[in-house]
Amino acid sequence: MNVPDRAEIRSTAKEAVRGIALLRDPLLNRGTGFTEQERDALGLRGLLPAHVLSMKAQAERVMTNLRSLPNDLEKYVALNALHDRNEALFFRIVCDNIDEIQPLIYTPTVGLACQRFGHIFQRPRGLFIGANDRGRIADLLRNWPYPAKLIVVTDGERILGLGDLGANGMGIPVGKLSLYTACAGIHPTHCLPVMLDVGTNNESLLNDPYYVGQRQKRVTGAAYDEFVDEFVTAARAVFPGVLIQFEDFANQQAFHLLHKYRDKICVFNDDIQGTAAVALAGLFSAMRTTGGKLSEQKVLFLGAGEAATGIADLVISAMIAEGLSEAEARLRVWLVDSRGLVVKNRAGGLTEHKMRYAHEHPPVGDFLTAIRTLKPTGIIGVAAVGGTFTPEVLQTMAELNTRPIIFALSNPTSKAECSAIEAYRHTGGRALFACGSPYDPVALDGKTFVPRQGNNSYIFPGVGLGAIVSGTRLVTDEMFMAAAHTLAQLVSEADIKQGSLYPALPRIREVSAQIAVAVAKVAYDRGLAAGVPPNDLLGYVQSQMYDPRY
Ligand code: NAD
Repeated sequence: MNVPDRAEIRSTAKEAVRGIALLRDPLLNRGTGFTEQERDALGLRGLLPAHVLSMKAQAERVMTNLRSLPNDLEKYVALNALHDRNEALFFRIVCDNIDEIQPLIYTPTVGLACQRFGHIFQRPRGLFIGANDRGRIADLLRNWPYPAKLIVVTDGERILGLGDLGANGMGIPVGKLSLYTACAGIHPTHCLPVMLDVGTNNESLLNDPYYVGQRQKRVTGAAYDEFVDEFVTAARAVFPGVLIQFEDFANQQAFHLLHKYRDKICVFNDDIQGTAAVALAGLFSAMRTTGGKLSEQKVLFLGAGEAATGIADLVISAMIAEGLSEAEARLRVWLVDSRGLVVKNRAGGLTEHKMRYAHEHPPVGDFLTAIRTLKPTGIIGVAAVGGTFTPEVLQTMAELNTRPIIFALSNPTSKAECSAIEAYRHTGGRALFACGSPYDPVALDGKTFVPRQGNNSYIFPGVGLGAIVSGTRLVTDEMFMAAAHTLAQLVSEADIKQGSLYPALPRIREVSAQIAVAVAKVAYDRGLAAGVPPNDLLGYVQSQMYDPRY
């Protein structure tokens, strides 16, 4: 992967971009940052006000304006507008203020933005491929002007914990790819957001005059499969070697697509595999506090969907790596869904993806009873039902464990199983806590806890970078396991002391580079990479990371 410079981007255009066209091209525009010499050379004289601002001064101005806006949605809109005007400046401020801006361009604000997508729509970004584009998807992909190396694609059916948002879900691939660029330095021209607009079953969107997508019910069955297959085939033909990340598909589709493609082409599903790695890293960090081994834990999930089963699979693999048999490891992982504990003899049966986690056990109808019955050392909430880690649930975990592991991972904030303050308060400050949504530090009984987000954004940027840099043919579970170990190793002693199970987010580019190295190593070791490894893999990875500057 070579990071294209300004001259290269410009030379890919039919004519050198000058004058007003330059100011309108977000990849090349520097606004008032163009120097006196550039203004003369590029036909900009008179098109800009006199005063030249440095990038630093522009960034300060943007942040001042941003902070004066009344709410997060307006901040999202303002950031989007900057992204559309001046990509370098947008990514500069995201990189330099990641703690503050990630929640605005990704969860939780992106959830609200997707709900309001048609109403706040200004400029399109990425490709919208409709069900009626069957037979010409390659032509649509060729309309994209840049050499994509990474596609994030959704069909909008399960956006965060918000359900079917149809084409409005485009906010998610756009936000994720912004994080790929900010957190792992994947160049913006290498990133392509794609919406597979197969309709929506969301009646309120179908009746919304400003809904952006096709006004029809979702395409399903064989027609859906053939449509996705044409997209995948066309994407690989138009952008050879491209990495495809499936994002926010409803769970049947997500499992089906991952299963269909994972052993054949370079794909992964972040909701399943990225989530798994970030949660496993959090468990490894928790072990640094308790001093125990992962293979001694018993984990109970609330939720049995993509996130839960993805995490469960990787936890089981990690327990096996610590010496347990598969049967022993499986006995340490239990799931509760909307119908209670996932057990073999459930009346009405179980869907296929839940069967592998079903135990021989009498039925248990609710989560609290499941906790009292199974006595888990950790609970992981990924059911997208807000408030389900009730005070009683938390108190029970604290009665059963000296240091209960409490991961409330559902997004957005309204769906969180509990807040940070609830987790600490109801466990007497003993919870080893990770959250899906951002929370401020919590002061309790003279101690300050700093909860950190168990957010995939610690994992997927580095995995994507490692995959692209190595040119891997496949993205494997071993790579996600390596990513989890790497992330956990980067948590400092100071982090652990204050209750943080993840590194500070401002270290994300360092984290992503290290994860990319770990992923690329697996690719080289397993013969999946293109070519031979560079002598200094870390140095090479770092040299491939785009740094947004003029
Ligand atoms: P999913 O639709 O695949 O799974 C949801 C599961 O919850 C299903 O198994 C469903 O049966 C179960 N469920 C629904 N209501 C329930 C109830 N009342 N009690 C118990 N279980 C119930 O969705 P998913 O992809 O697994 O995502 C779930 C949540 O996890 C979402 O909020 C998502 O945003 C969040 N998530 C967070 C991260 C992160 O980085 N923190 C990553 C992935 C997913």
